[in-house]
Amino acid sequence: MNWTYRQPVAIRFGNGALTSLYDEITALGGRRGLLVTSPSFVKRGLAERVRDMSHGLIGHVYGAVSPNPDVTECDECTEMLRRHGCDFVVAMGGGSVMDCAKAAAAFCTADAPAAAYLGDGKPIPDAHLPLIAIPTTAGTGSEITSVAVLSDHARGIKAPLSADSMYPAVAIVDPELTYTVPPYVTACTGFDVLCHAIEAYWSRRHQPVCDALAVQAAGLVFEYLAAACENPSDHTAREKMAEASVTAGLAFAQPKTTSAHACSYPLTNMLGIPHGEACALTIDRLVRLNSSRGDIRTARLAGRLGFTDAGALADAIADLRERVGLRSDLRDLAITDTQFEALVEGSKHPNLLNNPVEVTDDDLRMMYAAMR
Ligand code: NAD
Repeated sequence: MNWTYRQPVAIRFGNGALTSLYDEITALGGRRGLLVTSPSFVKRGLAERVRDMSHGLIGHVYGAVSPNPDVTECDECTEMLRRHGCDFVVAMGGGSVMDCAKAAAAFCTADAPAAAYLGDGKPIPDAHLPLIAIPTTAGTGSEITSVAVLSDHARGIKAPLSADSMYPAVAIVDPELTYTVPPYVTACTGFDVLCHAIEAYWSRRHQPVCDALAVQAAGLVFEYLAAACENPSDHTAREKMAEASVTAGLAFAQPKTTSAHACSYPLTNMLGIPHGEACALTIDRLVRLNSSRGDIRTARLAGRLGFTDAGALADAIADLRERVGLRSDLRDLAITDTQFEALVEGSKHPNLLNNPVEVTDDDLRMMYAAMR
């Protein structure tokens, strides 16, 4: 088996790590920075605190990133980077903020709008501004990946873009920043971590370094996610979920995600289900599907996590999903036949081909029919 492992992002992890921001900016040689964040961090004053910590090196704030960021938000951010002649970017927020900022840091070096890269397939520029990523959820792992997921709501598209130019230079992972995440968002983002780990392990592009990271991350989620949801001030649970998030990010960065993520895109796009909850909806069903088709890596992962077989792993996932209060079906949404067909079609995202066994249209139909 031939494989490569590459991870260009420097990671600073730990409670209080945010205080290293100024040192990290100066190490990059940054002089005029833009802070990209979400409205809630502007309102809570954290954006201002971070600006202060930069001792004047962060001159401006783009504070309007919404969940599932639209290409137009990325364009606004790009425009600010150009207008202010910025030479570095700091992204502080969940995956939505980090993805928007990562894309803008690359797109600002060329002329095209973000929509041209999404769907139209224009190559992402090689040039980019250096970016410091500061995650505030324990979920996406975006702080260490080359992926940015953008939406073009006008065209009904949500899709990942990937290029080396979108790797952050540095990730500052400070678990204290996740203390304010409400239980429902903790549950959604925690399931995103679990799906990254499971999908990285069974991905067709799996490799041994990422396998080890995936097992470590999935184990932490089973041990600590419920505690982080049930007691948001359980600092150990928060720290361990932050560790799980960055570790799962490292696990899937190269093998990439597979079926649960492919299915999540139309579930979010069409039905508005948050990303992690959308992934959580199908992952136990996909564990059963893969193992019923004889995928030995699904069974091996179950064993490495201490379960007797893949069925027991799927049961544990469903139990955890219920315990943390995430939906297990689509019944309350009364989806129409047209929406049902669109869900099947939309799930045939390229990531589906990375699943260890073929997932056919009939498989998708059966899976979604069982949720209706
Ligand atoms: P998010 O960034 O959309 O944030 C969810 C909500 O939580 C928002 O309202 C946000 O303001 C709030 N929030 C964030 N941090 C908070 C905090 N500390 N306290 C209180 N509230 C807080 O959610 P997410 O799950 O982190 O990111 C989801 C996005 O990331 C999706 O678009 C998904 O497709 C994408 N994603 C990207 C990658 C990648 O590799 N780039 C991987 C997985 C998912």
